[in-house]
Parts: sequence; structure tokens; C-alpha cells
Amino acid sequence: MISVEEARKNILSALTPVSTESISLHNASGRVLAEDIQARRTQPPSDMSAMDGYAVKISDLSKIPVTLTVIGEAPAGGSYDATLQSGQAVRIFTGGPVPKGADTIVIQENTSRDGDLVTIEEGTEKGRFIRKAGIDFKEGETGLFSGKTLTPRDIGLLAAMNIPWVTVRRKPVVALLSTGDELVRPGEPVGPNQIISSNALLVAAMVEMAGGIPIDLGIAQDNEQSLRHMAEGAKSADLLVTLGGASVGDHDLVQTVLGKEGLNIDFWRIAMRPGKPLMFGDLNGTPMLGMPGNPVSSVVCSYIFLYPAIDALSGRSPRKTLVSPAILSHDIKENDQREDYQRAKIIGEKDGLPLVELFSNQDSSLLSALSAANCFLKRAPFAPALKKGSQVSIIPLDEGYPRC
Ligand code: AMP
Ligand code: MG
Repeated sequence: MISVEEARKNILSALTPVSTESISLHNASGRVLAEDIQARRTQPPSDMSAMDGYAVKISDLSKIPVTLTVIGEAPAGGSYDATLQSGQAVRIFTGGPVPKGADTIVIQENTSRDGDLVTIEEGTEKGRFIRKAGIDFKEGETGLFSGKTLTPRDIGLLAAMNIPWVTVRRKPVVALLSTGDELVRPGEPVGPNQIISSNALLVAAMVEMAGGIPIDLGIAQDNEQSLRHMAEGAKSADLLVTLGGASVGDHDLVQTVLGKEGLNIDFWRIAMRPGKPLMFGDLNGTPMLGMPGNPVSSVVCSYIFLYPAIDALSGRSPRKTLVSPAILSHDIKENDQREDYQRAKIIGEKDGLPLVELFSNQDSSLLSALSAANCFLKRAPFAPALKKGSQVSIIPLDEGYPRC
């Protein structure tokens, strides 16, 4: 058996970022930049007022109160173009450019106005409430770097830099192929011994959450011809994910059948539970991740292997699964040699940390417990038995795409 970390490293080292595309800033949140971005604008473009008030010379304020003559106005988007002389003030508004000759803004609240005269009633210091030109960024400065996942805040920065379009990585296309004679799609006629295929829809939703585009290739029967034909759908995908048929039973055909089709594969037994059998390889140029069929295994393998793979294809540094501390609400037994991801629920708080309870049945086929869970309790190989109140590690599940 190999470790989770070793398998993850092997997968990541085999993947390279997909090609790029140009998109409008409107659609760019969550996308991965594929270029460094230089500001096309200096912000603010000139010295500007941060408040509503009066632009003055500090040298006129040596005695307070002092009355000055208001000679004009500088609203946001406009300007007062003459030079301010001693004894004068310019009415100014937030975002208005500071007129030549002025060096300080006195806020409106500290003045009283009478016709063309304004009396300054409180002193201030030189430069107060002036935003200097370029204090935010200067034209030509690099604001964001290639590989950055754009947040809504980055979109604001890019807009202010006068960047309407950005070059980003394409969203990687992830083809999902379910396998198994027992499976039918939701809504289709279902025989007495069949089950409804849930994995492809479940993993597709996770792919979308991770910034990929899922395509469902359908359900291959457990025979050579069906599997071969259906896998052809992955030709133009950036990654093929097979679900099920990954083990060593007579009906687990993925490795043998796709092997004949040119699949170059590593088959790993990974020291983790669930998700022990995992395949990774290359099917005629398309990287392939073969995951076991149980729904819980699919979710755990998606968190640990598929999410980082989508990161690598998207050109961003692969995120490690976020692991955070929590407190046990009951005793638990010791662990065996496999890293364990147990379905658990945060039921409260203790000493500022989440209080967690394990589901009593940890069978990896149970979708009801999986849906009710809001975290995995992560246990290291050979972790000892623990008493109620002990500190443990959890992976929160409901916060989109956890990052660390
Ligand atoms: P396998 O990895 O093909 O041996 O499948 C392991 C278990 O997962 C079996 O009980 C399958 O019926 C079940 N399974 C496989 N694929 C799916 C699927 N797409 N949806 C739900 N269960 C599945
Ligand atoms: Mg199967």
C-alpha cells in the first residue's frame, strides 16, 4: 500500500495546465488568471479629497477661527482649474480633485458658511484628507499574477485598473464514466436487483464546485465492448474519471479493458479508508483517475485526489484539504493501519471548537449518513483509542471548496 500523500504527489506531477481563453471581467470570478495584470490607469489619477469640505492652504490656518473666500467648486468628476491663493478656499466633495495651491482639506462639519465666505472653526494638519495620486496603484504596476484564482475583490481591483478582459485557464473538462450492470440513471425503469446510479451526479456537482466542467459519459455495462465504446467519449476531455470497477473482482474491468485500449496505468492500494483501490494513468493522452464505486469512496477520493487534480489542470497551486481541530462528543476506538475518513457531524461547540459526533454505521455505501454528515473525522494510521473531550482533526464539508 502507498500513502495518501504519495498518491497525491504522483497524480499532481503528471498533470499540466489546460489552454487559456479570454473572457469578460463579468464572468471572471473564480477563474484562474493565466497572465500577469498591469494597471492601465493610475488610481487615483490625481490628488483627491477623501471628504466633503473645503480645500485650503494650511498656512492660512495658523489662527482659528479664520474666514476665507470661497472662489469655486471641485466636485467628483469635475475640477477647479485656477490656483488657490492665500485667503481663499475651494468648496470640494469626496472624490473631487484637489486644486493647485491647496494642500489640506477641512471637513464641512468644522466650518460655517455665509455666502462666499467660509469660517474654519477647527484646526487640522497639513495634507489631512487628501488621497495622493497613485496611492492605490500606478499605471504599469503589476496588480495580480498568473495563477491567481480571482475573488470578487480581485474583480473590483481589475475593474479599477481599467481591465475589461482577462486571459484565464479554460475550465478543465472532466468526463465521468460510471460502470456496473446494476446501475440505472435516476428516473429510468429499474429492475429488482438494480440500484440507482448516484455517483456521477454527485461527483459532477463536486467538479463544478472545484471549477471544472463535468460531462457525463453515461453508464458502461460490465463487459469489454460497452466499456470500450463508452470510454471513447473521453477523447476531448482534460481528465477521465471512472467510477466503479476499480477493484480486483471478476466484474472490475476498468484496468484490463482500458489497458487494451492504450491505458497506461498505475494501480494503487492506498492506505486509506474508504477509497483503497485507486487508479491513475493516461488513456491515449487523456489523464485518467479511476475511483472505487461506493458513493462515500467517491466523495473522499474527490476531496483528496480529484480536487487537487482540477487545481493542477486549472493552473493554480493545488490546495491541500483543509483540516481543522474539533472536540469528540464520545469515546472512539483505536484505528488500524489505514488513514480513515469517518462521516461525522458537528453538533455544537466546546471551548471554542466544534463538537463532533461520529455516525455509528460507517459503511461506505450509506448515502443518508453521507448527506447528513457535515465533516469527515480524519484519523491517522494506528491512531489510539480516544476519550470523549479529546481533540481530533476534521475536514469540514459544507464550506464550498475548503482551502489551506
Ligand atoms: P465497484 O467499485 O464497481 O465494485 O462498486 C462498489 C460498490 O459501489 C457496489 O456496491 C456498486 O453497486 C456501487 N456503485 C458503483 N457505482 C455506483 C454508482 N455510480 N452509484 C452508486 N453506487 C455505485
Ligand atoms: Mg462494479
